[in-house]
Amino acid sequence: MSKLPNITTSIFSVMSQLANEHRAINLSQGFPNFPEDERLLQISERLIRENIHQYTPMAGLPSLMEKIAAQTTKQYGRIVNTSTEMLITAGATQGVFTTINTFVSAGDEVIILDPSYDSYEPSVLVAGGIPVRVSLNEDYTPNFNRIENAITSKTKMIVINNPHNPTGRIWTEKDFESLETILEKHPQILILGDEVYEYITFTQPHISFNTRKKLKHRTVIASSFGKSLHVTGWKVGYLIAPENLMSEMKKVHQFLVFSVNSFSQHAIAHYLDVVDFNEVSKMYLRKRDLFQNLIRDSRFELMPCDGTYFQVVNYKEISKLNDVDFAKALITKHGVAAIPISVFYNDATDRSMLRFCFAKTDETLIAAAEKLCRI
Ligand code: PMP
Ligand code: GLN
Repeated sequence: MSKLPNITTSIFSVMSQLANEHRAINLSQGFPNFPEDERLLQISERLIRENIHQYTPMAGLPSLMEKIAAQTTKQYGRIVNTSTEMLITAGATQGVFTTINTFVSAGDEVIILDPSYDSYEPSVLVAGGIPVRVSLNEDYTPNFNRIENAITSKTKMIVINNPHNPTGRIWTEKDFESLETILEKHPQILILGDEVYEYITFTQPHISFNTRKKLKHRTVIASSFGKSLHVTGWKVGYLIAPENLMSEMKKVHQFLVFSVNSFSQHAIAHYLDVVDFNEVSKMYLRKRDLFQNLIRDSRFELMPCDGTYFQVVNYKEISKLNDVDFAKALITKHGVAAIPISVFYNDATDRSMLRFCFAKTDETLIAAAEKLCRI
């Protein structure tokens, strides 16, 4: 018997493989293709010969945890106790899986906002929980009536991804206040705040659950250095949560991975001494504007992009194909790979939308845009 009978290979693997087979420009899976920061490379070269290759403590490398705590205080004013409130994870994927599988039991409902990142639903299903998928508004802002109506006595958790993949939208102060009003009536509901794009916002500074006095006692925050330091393959992320939640998650974590890759943790710990997170948003804002300007006169319609490194476009002017078929044709006929948005819904709603990743060199973006403008 399968625990995940309807889950197939992730769309990110499918599209990247197809892009490679057809030598298409890959703007599908979200990862940067520009060279790593020279300073991180130098740190890595020096560290590789040091005595750092054995297990770190289970919850994470202490020096890395101290630096994350300092950054969290600097950025959000939250004081985090690294011994009791933090866990280093093998990317946010493991953080999400650990959080859900620690707190969700058979029959518990978990509210997920669609279009939703692909790992939430399988994590809930493995735990025996019931994913309750609630669509965002047409413009991808949260619909609080729908969220409130989806809550039942079985609701255990709500997953909030902000800044949002795949849509690039971000939550406003008013959005958080609406959530706070709803959740006041439901003290049993936990929040999983997926903030992996916390350092990539353009239209307003990121509002983190770290700053929400009314919510943080029941929130697990997941983040990832894959996104904020451009090292997706290093798979180092972290969770921040109050002690009563964190102590339970550590029990699961220690038998899921025990501890995370020591080399990457050491290298990131040193790199955090020199890196400036303000530069991340600035760099991606420039790339977003470049990509938007390059395809503004094409037949693709640009959707708002407030954060993340994803640009959603509507292609209804170009084709009547559904988005999965259109994305495949875009690779095979036009040489550019994108992600179809319908796969992030459970009812496969076809909205003629594609997601392009602009975490690429300017040359890559220019070459892709040339192809897109010819369609
Ligand atoms: N959540 C979201 C919203 C993501 O886009 C990603 C992909 N980076 C993850 C979680 C997983 O992050 P990681 O690669 O660190 O496992
Ligand atoms: N988060 C990345 C994206 O949205 C992909 C991660 C993965 O391939 N699993 O494209």
